[in-house]
Amino acid sequence: MGPVPLLNLLPQYGKIRDEVLAAIIRVADSQQFILGQEVKLLEAEIAAYSQAAFGIGCASGSDALLLALMAAGIGPGNEVLTSPYSFFATVSAIHRTGATTVFADIDPVSFNLDPQPLAAILDSRPKVRAIIPIHLFGGCADMGAIRAACAGREIFLLEDAAQAIGAEYEGSRAGSMGHAGCFSFFPSKNLGAFGDAGMITTQDPDLAARLSTLRVHGSRDKYFHETVGLNSRLDALQAAVLRVKFRYLDEWTAARQRNAARYRELLAGLPVTVPAPRPWQNRHIYNQFVIATDRRDQLKAWLGARGIGTEIYYPLPLHLQQCFAYLGYRPGDFPVSERLARESLAIPVHGELSSEELEWVADSIGAFFESL
Ligand SMILES: *Cc1c(COP(=O)(O)O)cnc(C)c1O
Repeated sequence: MGPVPLLNLLPQYGKIRDEVLAAIIRVADSQQFILGQEVKLLEAEIAAYSQAAFGIGCASGSDALLLALMAAGIGPGNEVLTSPYSFFATVSAIHRTGATTVFADIDPVSFNLDPQPLAAILDSRPKVRAIIPIHLFGGCADMGAIRAACAGREIFLLEDAAQAIGAEYEGSRAGSMGHAGCFSFFPSKNLGAFGDAGMITTQDPDLAARLSTLRVHGSRDKYFHETVGLNSRLDALQAAVLRVKFRYLDEWTAARQRNAARYRELLAGLPVTVPAPRPWQNRHIYNQFVIATDRRDQLKAWLGARGIGTEIYYPLPLHLQQCFAYLGYRPGDFPVSERLARESLAIPVHGELSSEELEWVADSIGAFFESL
């Protein structure tokens, strides 16, 4: 068996190459590069797909988070609650607004914000103005329980749906449940551009209007600025590429779901924790398939020696990052996040993985545990 990388975009590209190149030529021939018709169409398509009324394209998922917090008026003196087990961008956005991050630990099964202690935390922290649940690895956070904890409080609920396009919580799509949802089209996401791109979804027309202004330096009429925004526009080229790939998204997601189901069969009985969607995660899109074992580093080396690509998402929880030391958190504060940072390992699950490759990965994991 040849190498099995964690993600290989080449076979996917091979299948859609002609269509994508035609879309790129269409944009090149128009010489309209920033926002414009391609972006409008993509915004409408992604919003509809995500059961949201509005989609506002921007330069990246990181900017989507920052713009959404800015549009909600989050800033110095406010606190924003999220979990420390995520990609850096979630907390970077909070930091950039001048607000203070408050962390709460994750549920060990879903890797998402554990809603259980939320109400008590909110009682003791009246400055919390926003919560960012992260739909990590393609499975939705427990939005019902999170919303219940927010009831009666003025809290901006922002879904970090960067890894979760099309994922569902009890039939509701990621990006439709909070006040806003943020998407990333980074190439390794399930819907990936040919570079950086992002989008914010919302049901709220006022918020949508503020976001469209904030992404163009806070100006509604060119050269007249009501607020200070960002330069965070979505390129027409990226939108055109995304619109082609979007047509295949459900097919690719179905392949990931089949791969995940097959892994669950093949890895059953081995001493690894295998992702098992929580009952409310009725459409998990498996941006990653993350297993956990206390022999993670050995297993990673074993698989690497067989040419199998894996990745650790994430090796250091955000509350222990050097740049956030000022928040005052310590090792031991969030035991579930800290344990999973030591134990989790993403294995290849992408839609182009052949059944032989998948079986080779599963067999290799089995062989590792036999070798102990
Ligand atoms: C990818 C990602 C982001 C940031 O998206 P970019 O487009 O890379 O800026 C934010 N949050 C999470 C959870 C992500 O996985």
